[in-house]
Amino acid sequence: MLKKLIYSLLFLAITFFISCENTDDELNQDVNSLEIDMSDFYVQTESDDLLNKSSDKANTKNCQSMTVLNRQLKEKPGLYNKMYNIEKHTRKIIASKKPDGNPGGGKPGDGGGGNDPTPYTGSITIPVIINILEDNVGDVSQAQINSQIAILNEDFNNNNPNTSGAPSEFSGLVANCDITYTLAGVNRKISSKSSWGTNDSMKLSSQGGIDVTDPSLNLNIWVCNIGGGILGYAQFPGGSTETDGVVIGIEYFGETSGVYGDGRTATHEVGHWLNLRHIWGDGRCRQDDFVADTPSSDRSNGGCPTYPTVHCKSADMTMNYMDYVYDDCMYMFTDGQNDRMRALFASGGTRESFVN
Ligand SMILES: [Zn+2]
Repeated sequence: MLKKLIYSLLFLAITFFISCENTDDELNQDVNSLEIDMSDFYVQTESDDLLNKSSDKANTKNCQSMTVLNRQLKEKPGLYNKMYNIEKHTRKIIASKKPDGNPGGGKPGDGGGGNDPTPYTGSITIPVIINILEDNVGDVSQAQINSQIAILNEDFNNNNPNTSGAPSEFSGLVANCDITYTLAGVNRKISSKSSWGTNDSMKLSSQGGIDVTDPSLNLNIWVCNIGGGILGYAQFPGGSTETDGVVIGIEYFGETSGVYGDGRTATHEVGHWLNLRHIWGDGRCRQDDFVADTPSSDRSNGGCPTYPTVHCKSADMTMNYMDYVYDDCMYMFTDGQNDRMRALFASGGTRESFVN
């Protein structure tokens, strides 16, 4: 009897091993046959100088997502490969969507589409957990929280009233991302810390912060005093689960006052959380944000730029949420950015668990 059981288990184990092997082989073959060009992929920026090359430095947003990514890449040897694979998967999915895509269904020249996964096409709902570290309970009011959720919904559903001012060059590219954010919970903790910085301590109760709530099903937003004039930062897909989410400076969260008082720091950071890069690609003209329908630029823009602002032979899309302009002057994601975000929710994508 025992012998029979052992044989059965062995058989099961071998079958499982073989089926895993097959799946991997099919996957590898599939990916290889797509010949996805990864030659321009990079994650680490050459220096922090490149992150702040704005022509209008005094009026430029200070987002630390790339600086934090640079640090994480140094600290975590496996992160580069993980992000490379996410990028490859994203490009494969976007390539499979092209009408004359080469290839579709894994076969070159079959007209595209086929059985390849395309970017997720349905409505997406993202539950949001707000983790607040404040001097006194209620410093961040419920109204402020509600206003932040409302702004995210406005921006990710193409309801920003300023969008009507888009120049004709860009107006046809405005995307309705069809992503809805719902408030799933608020965690508050008293803390007199005036400067949390960007080392993720606000995300760990062992360091005085608040632990993440299931990041496979929730977007976690930490609200705290970051300090150093930093508006916020996000962790890109691929990073550790215990630090997955975005951090927003308490004075830039929701509807407040000033040029960054319209809650668009969160829109920008959630864009990073959904794998969007800065609109100028954090580098020179040739360095890209991996989105085809956004023009190249070699710097961020600050303040409220006039159109056209030209840096790399074409007008910068200064009104994109992924630039560094005032909240009032950013009002669009493009279709290409939408595809890139949605690739995460497709089969095999990093955030697939949100739609299944
Ligand atoms: Zn940013």
